[in-house]
Amino acid sequence: MHTPFDLSGKRAVVTGANTGLGQGVAVALAQAGAAIVAVGRSAMDETGELVRTAGVPFTEVRADLATLEPISRIVTEASASGRIDILVNNAGIIRRADSLDFTEEDWDAVMDVNLKSTFFLTQAVARTMLADGKGGKVINIASLLSFQGGIRIPSYTASKSGLAGLTRLLACEWAAKGINVNAIAPGYFVTNNTQALREDPKRSADILARIPAGHWGKPSELGGAAVFLAAPASDYVHGIVLPVDGGWLAR
Ligand code: NAP
Repeated sequence: MHTPFDLSGKRAVVTGANTGLGQGVAVALAQAGAAIVAVGRSAMDETGELVRTAGVPFTEVRADLATLEPISRIVTEASASGRIDILVNNAGIIRRADSLDFTEEDWDAVMDVNLKSTFFLTQAVARTMLADGKGGKVINIASLLSFQGGIRIPSYTASKSGLAGLTRLLACEWAAKGINVNAIAPGYFVTNNTQALREDPKRSADILARIPAGHWGKPSELGGAAVFLAAPASDYVHGIVLPVDGGWLAR
């Protein structure tokens, strides 16, 4: 049955889909009917199994997004069996240290993956989306640090605040061309990204106490927002950063 949330016949590229939020998003898009192309540097067997169980094709493209080098290959391989309709820029890293001690290496590494590769992969995919005039959907995985400062993560906050700005800019440039560019700002989810926080009993308890929903997010709880932003239901939605945060920002 076709609904405004149906992704049957669509192909979605999801970066960093081997684990965590990327895996959750890939599975949700697959369950809505989209074929999945998972892009990442690690084995994606588990995601492949979950996606195929949903009854849609799964393709894996191995690539390290620390540099721009693999980008044209990613687009070529991802579109080998059909056009890319949806791009989810999920791959991201975080480095933690006091700002007074923060190194150039930790600055550059985070900015390169979270912002630079995201922009240039989006540019490359958007060119294909515009080439046949059919447009598409771009979903950036932002953060609460797109709205807030945080502590001890200067390059991460800069990258995610930058990603929110980039989302708005690209929406302004491409909305009339048929590409929706939006972002999701996850709150605190149980993934590798937050392992250090969850292992710190005080930080972990403080964070939990502030989440109105009363629990850390599970990757599966992000999927619905991604399906919405990938589907016809959001055709008139451009340039938003949608929090999925258990109410954190409402506090
Ligand atoms: P995660 O489990 O650490 O996943 C990060 C993903 O990015 C992994 O698939 C990782 O691959 C991939 N990745 C990192 N560097 C890469 C590179 N150079 N090339 C290709 N892939 C690379 O953490 P997560 O929480 O699911 O993070 C997913 C996204 O959500 C990130 O953008 C993160 O900033 C954002 N986010 C997370 C939270 C949260 O609470 N968890 C909150 C807000 C935003 P490997 O497994 O090979 O390292």
